[in-house]
Amino acid sequence: MKTIKLEDLLYQKFGYPTFRTGQKEAIEAAVNGKDTLVMLPTGSGKSICYQLPAYLKEGLVIVISPLLSLMQDQVEGLKKLGERRVAALNSLSSSGEKRRILKQLPSLKFLFVSPEMVQYDFIIQRLLTVPIAFLVVDEAHCISQWGLDFRPDYLKIGKVKEQLKHPVTMALTATATKAVREEIKTSLQMNPANTEELIHSVNRNEIKLVVERCEGNKDAKLKEYVEKLNGSGIIYFSSKKKADSAAVDLRQQTGRTVESYHSDLEADDKIKIQQQFLDGTLQVICATSAFGMGVDKPDVRYVIHYHVPANPEMYLQEIGRCSRDRKEGVAVLLFEQGDQFIQKRLQEDALPDESLLSYLYKHPEKVKAFQQDPKVQIGQFYYTSNVPLGSAIRQMELRKQLKEEQLSFMLQYIHHTGCKRAFLLRYFEEKTCEQKENCCSTCTDHLLEQFIKKDSVIKQSSPLVLNWKERLQDLYKMNEQSTNSRKI
Ligand SMILES: [Zn+2]
Repeated sequence: MKTIKLEDLLYQKFGYPTFRTGQKEAIEAAVNGKDTLVMLPTGSGKSICYQLPAYLKEGLVIVISPLLSLMQDQVEGLKKLGERRVAALNSLSSSGEKRRILKQLPSLKFLFVSPEMVQYDFIIQRLLTVPIAFLVVDEAHCISQWGLDFRPDYLKIGKVKEQLKHPVTMALTATATKAVREEIKTSLQMNPANTEELIHSVNRNEIKLVVERCEGNKDAKLKEYVEKLNGSGIIYFSSKKKADSAAVDLRQQTGRTVESYHSDLEADDKIKIQQQFLDGTLQVICATSAFGMGVDKPDVRYVIHYHVPANPEMYLQEIGRCSRDRKEGVAVLLFEQGDQFIQKRLQEDALPDESLLSYLYKHPEKVKAFQQDPKVQIGQFYYTSNVPLGSAIRQMELRKQLKEEQLSFMLQYIHHTGCKRAFLLRYFEEKTCEQKENCCSTCTDHLLEQFIKKDSVIKQSSPLVLNWKERLQDLYKMNEQSTNSRKI
């Protein structure tokens, strides 16, 4: 493989003059027919790792992706680059669309597919009729039963790979501990003799780490930061209700354009809010963890956590949405004594307990009615995988224990009096932290002040607007007016 060729192709197809850390090795491994597990931090251009070698290999690239929005973004992104041989198969596709896509398969280069959909026999049979360049598993940590986004359907990808006659496989993730990586390789039946593991530091130097201890003044602190911090920001909450009320308060108190985003919103509203945030009409999003995957906004300047994140993996993924343009940004974790109990309760609610598991094992026919409940999905997975009830209960106990340990790590991070970055990296078995300047709130005094707005001339939002649709229309007008009058 000549170096020049890859770089030329990178420029020609994607417009980038050079590779970012880790991309080239992953591309070379795929081109050379090796299975790869690629771990690159959030926002470091993971998709290039499979998109570029697609042009050097004959056949279809199948990308298994866990989220509809993420899938849609990737499809749109490729189309914008002029690639028309791309399609997505998921629960949103009508049966007519599915038929059309499967018919067009020989002329496609990229097929994005959900883990549920790729298991259907008629799809597998059709995929077997075309040459497959390689199989990509995006967000591969979803395979891990111990990972934060465990998706039972992901565990079946190993079988899909077998049915597809073991195509070259690339698993991509941003945050996975060693144990999770081992699970990914086993589950995807990656042959150790022909597998390359390309693991890169999860650290993002440009994101400064601040922990702020609050005493009864968390809302006031939040308001102060939203008022003073420059640029776009995301604020994460563990509760939808608090995300909603904080958005209302911040809109009224700071004059910023703010909306909330969580799983209760209609799909249309989610897309609109995401779009408004991307184009800068909305400055601040008050979100739950439902927001972010696939949101590729380069200039998010701060991410604030109002509640303690559940685990270091999630924390890194969420703060990783900051500073994708590699300019400096700040991640602030606001902590008040007692916050840990909110997260603890959420964790207890997320897994099926003994009585639910026993019920599901006894009445598997009733599962359909509650299929949307993740707890039921997990229980159903164990049942359909023929795991004995006793082992399923023990597995759940172990997972609960792991979640407790992860939360306890986050609390230690908050209270840690040494370098926060080094402490966080240790979780991912990284021994050193090279950062010397502007690292974290224990290494650098007054770190946050560097990000504070000097000229805080703030526009007042209209208190008369009643719903968010009207408010957005209003924002459009305000945006146009401010664009017109910006040259004062
Ligand atoms: Zn530090």
